[in-house]
Amino acid sequence: MLRKISKALFGKRSKTQTSEPANHAATEPRHNSKPSRGRASLDDLDLSGADIIERDEHCISRKDISPNALKVLYRLNDAGFNAFLVGGGVRDLLLGDKPKDFDVSTNATPEQIKQLFRNAMIIGRRFKIIHVRFGREIIEVTTFRAPHEPENQFKGKTTNRSIKGLDSAHSSAGLILRDNVYGNINEDALRRDFTANALYYTTDGFRIIDFANGLEDIDNRLLRMIGDPATRYREDPVRLMRAVRFAAKLGFDIEKNTRAPMDEMAPLLSSISSARLFDESLKFLTGGKAEKTFALLRQFKVGQVLFPATMATTKDPQSVESQLLTLAMRNTDRRLAQGKSVTPAFLYAAILWPPLQQILKQHAEGKPVSIPEHHEAANQVILKQIQVTAIPKRFSIATKEIWEQQIRLQTRTKRGAETAFAHPRFRAAYDFLLLREDAGEALDGVGQWWTDFQTADEAQREDMLNALGKGTATKRRRRRKPTKKPNTGTEDNA
Ligand code: ATP
Ligand code: MG
Repeated sequence: MLRKISKALFGKRSKTQTSEPANHAATEPRHNSKPSRGRASLDDLDLSGADIIERDEHCISRKDISPNALKVLYRLNDAGFNAFLVGGGVRDLLLGDKPKDFDVSTNATPEQIKQLFRNAMIIGRRFKIIHVRFGREIIEVTTFRAPHEPENQFKGKTTNRSIKGLDSAHSSAGLILRDNVYGNINEDALRRDFTANALYYTTDGFRIIDFANGLEDIDNRLLRMIGDPATRYREDPVRLMRAVRFAAKLGFDIEKNTRAPMDEMAPLLSSISSARLFDESLKFLTGGKAEKTFALLRQFKVGQVLFPATMATTKDPQSVESQLLTLAMRNTDRRLAQGKSVTPAFLYAAILWPPLQQILKQHAEGKPVSIPEHHEAANQVILKQIQVTAIPKRFSIATKEIWEQQIRLQTRTKRGAETAFAHPRFRAAYDFLLLREDAGEALDGVGQWWTDFQTADEAQREDMLNALGKGTATKRRRRRKPTKKPNTGTEDNA
């Protein structure tokens, strides 16, 4: 397959000669802002400087493309707009992988796209995109973007309100605040992050258009930022996370100049909303290459910025905590490969387990930890992490339950075991317990006990429970009501 790409690179391919002066001011795409009559054609576009790879010179076949993505392309074309498959869909097909999703890029504006698809919704403010929904599949459609103009620099304190109504804005530090100025295809290509992500596939002759030598980089398995890497990271520091994610996912090397500023730029991630960082962190974990991603996060400062407490407490790769993290990520990749689901609550339970253990060790000084002490430490760890990646409450509550159930699963009393087994989080907590044992924690065979318990019949279960000491699940000490509500600073995360 790669030979086919090489053939595309060094075999017959045409380089277009046309060129057109850039005009960056328009908020409407300059090409076909009004649909021309009839089908759109590549001839309508300025493809100056692009390599065009003919149908028989690349390995992408229409049958590998989602029928829904093709439907979107054809409908836009029929309405007189140019539309292309772009991004991961093209890249992954060239690599012989199954794309996670299909993205479409077009010269139709969001409003024009919406008129064509009943099932379309405009989402996002910073970067408007259209979701065209077909049952569970979403095709993401974006309008060609133009570069930012220096006069769009926004000085002063920026709030959502202060930049309301602006199509384009960036801070004096170069961070893009609004990115909704539309342009033409070659401008759009250069606004994308990596060269491998800037390839356009058209149903007009089933050709690939390459503006940034993406094919050559794919062939050499190189992740190369388009333009000046430092400037591009400053525009959007999330590109640092994307560099790590794609390097892990694709097994690409990060090109030297793309890699060079990464550590220096990493602190800029703190200017990104914690909600967006949480979403991006999930892409790390659920992309099927979580183990590799975490290994890379150790090499780059991005890891320390995103998961400060975890990275600080897993410096020794041989420690039980580090092993647990590695195994959790490996299991996640395995589950996803088997088509099983993974929950962010479990993943964050594993990621934040090392810092939780550190606090508990200091706290307890060898004594058993009480449930309230555990609860307080759990809140403390979560509270620190959500300042970086805002874990939604429904997940953080479940994370804390998985942790708390660890104590109950280890209780070894009849009542404790019954309570643990009846808990809605039992299965996740049991999986977590096994993970701890696999990582090398000595838990006195309790994992095996629970495995046997689940496979036993009613009578055997009764025997197993009766063989345990009677005891109570946990000793609840009544706390005296404080006269004034103290501010502990360890509330549940909001
Ligand atoms: P995958 O979907 O497999 O994670 P992808 O490359 O398709 O990978 P998406 O997040 O779906 O990634 O984005 C689609 C395309 O949009 C990218 O390939 C890239 O061209 C562009 N893009 C996305 N995010 C950025 C960004 N932060 N900066 C510049 N371009 C971006
Ligand atoms: Mg994609």
